[in-house]
Amino acid sequence: MKNAVYPGSFDPITLGHLNIIRRASRIFDKLYVCVMANSSKQPLFTCEERMDMIRRTVRHFGNVEVDTSDDLLVKHARELDAKVVIKGLRAVSDFDFEFQMALANKIIEPNIETLFMASSGKYTYLSSTVVKEMAKYGADLKEFVPREIIDDILRKINQ
Ligand code: ADP
Repeated sequence: MKNAVYPGSFDPITLGHLNIIRRASRIFDKLYVCVMANSSKQPLFTCEERMDMIRRTVRHFGNVEVDTSDDLLVKHARELDAKVVIKGLRAVSDFDFEFQMALANKIIEPNIETLFMASSGKYTYLSSTVVKEMAKYGADLKEFVPREIIDDILRKINQ
């Protein structure tokens, strides 16, 4: 079994994330989408809410499981028997930090590889931050996030 982990804050999941999930799920037997609970970012959605939104979005993928961790990513990957960590790259601006993380992780856990997947050109501009900003001003979200979670975002923003 070839398992991989796709970590992130997913606050909330976007069509850019979903594109990476779809492509990675075709390469690996099992893909764990892992909501990192200890991110330094102050999230809008709780960890449970983020997991629930991802679950509804990936329901039709047979080999994708939603998961969470507040541990060191590579330690968690080892527990899941995943030898690969997937990272999406949107632009060179993502690269510096992700490259540093990949090198640090390699020192801690040499058996785990970080695999970078280039964002689909269609979504290189897209981030969870853009989605939250658009939602605040009442923009139509269907170009940005899976339709299953549009109401969750509107509800949260209007709270
Ligand atoms: P964000 O930067 O939007 O808050 P996350 O921390 O949730 O993103 O990102 C999780 C992973 O998904 C990271 O590897 C990130 O580079 C990747 N990612 C985020 N948005 C996109 C996108 N539009 N296309 C490809 N990969 C993406």
